[in-house]
Amino acid sequence: MTISTEQFDVCDLAAPGVRELTPYQPGKPIEELEREYGLSDVIKLASNENPLGPSPDALTAIRDNLAELSRYPDGNGFILKQALCNHFDLDAAQITLGNGSNDVLELIARAFVTPDNEVVFSQHAFAVYPLVTRAIGARAVVTPARAGGHDLEAILGAITDRTRLVFIANPNNPTGTWLTRAALQAFLEQVPPHVLVVLDEAYYEYAADPATGIADYPDGLQWLATFPNLIVTRTFSKAYGLAGLRIGYAVSHPEVADYLNRVRQPFNVNHLALAAVSAALTDTAHLQRGIALNVRGLQQYYQAFDQRGLDYFPSAGNFVTVRVGPAAEINEQLLRRGIIVRPVANYDLPEHLRISIGSEKENRRCIDALDEILQAGE
Ligand SMILES: *Cc1c(COP(=O)(O)O)cnc(C)c1O
Repeated sequence: MTISTEQFDVCDLAAPGVRELTPYQPGKPIEELEREYGLSDVIKLASNENPLGPSPDALTAIRDNLAELSRYPDGNGFILKQALCNHFDLDAAQITLGNGSNDVLELIARAFVTPDNEVVFSQHAFAVYPLVTRAIGARAVVTPARAGGHDLEAILGAITDRTRLVFIANPNNPTGTWLTRAALQAFLEQVPPHVLVVLDEAYYEYAADPATGIADYPDGLQWLATFPNLIVTRTFSKAYGLAGLRIGYAVSHPEVADYLNRVRQPFNVNHLALAAVSAALTDTAHLQRGIALNVRGLQQYYQAFDQRGLDYFPSAGNFVTVRVGPAAEINEQLLRRGIIVRPVANYDLPEHLRISIGSEKENRRCIDALDEILQAGE
């Protein structure tokens, strides 16, 4: 069926901020590449997913809860909030649950930003920040990056009376760069009280683990008592290997959380997610295995890039962004070999590819393919 739009101009009807949006480009699904290129045995290193998958305890909890699917989930997420409170020594009133932490990022913008406001974030920052800002019709103020990371001085300098929100990812995606405790503390002390700071810690578990070797990486939760304008967001999509379940959360001052919960859809987090994540939190052995695998994988890539003389950003996450030159072309060559990575031209990095850390075997296949492609191009 073809639907005629002659009678009305949809473009005129769309909200002004939404009109200029381009949809978020997710990593290509494995099945899509297999269909399009007639391939099998495709590997995906494009969405920072965990090659180990979730804790077996989480899978057991999911199976045990299948019979409950005819019921609405607990709209307040009581069991999960309790589990988080026990794990991090929080008060349940500080927590806002989201259908992935992207959901929470949107709730923050909806609850606090009007079309008259400005939202500040850095060049090369996560694509969801401009998306949630522009959807509201607010102005996105993008500050230049410094060495691929956030320039906190530039961000402070961009704050005006109209600024309501600053988004900072630590570590940042797609560059993997991170900010130290001292730098962030000094920044938070200078941010005026009419500005909320969102500290996006999607990769917290990787960056905070001593095995990753990140010096002076801060835990944002430590500042909540000092800075009531701080919101920390985290997710179960990355280190906990539950990206498909869609569950993340914000921790903030209880009054901030109260407003976030006013705009939240009553059942935004599903029943299986609530049950699975409560179980996943206590399986620290599984989490540790994933982190150790990631550390080894990062070393595998660093070594290969060093040997080839390729520039990359040392990463505090489960991905590495490398400068390959003609990235679009090399990406196409990788796709033909059944390897999905992430071109980051939309992040102002047209010569880079972001590669998620996979299993040792997947990493090897990706490195060998890159070698082959780069050698052929020489
Ligand atoms: C992956 C990621 C998220 C998490 O997204 P979910 O919605 O929780 O899956 C948030 N912020 C950044 C910077 C990310 O890279």
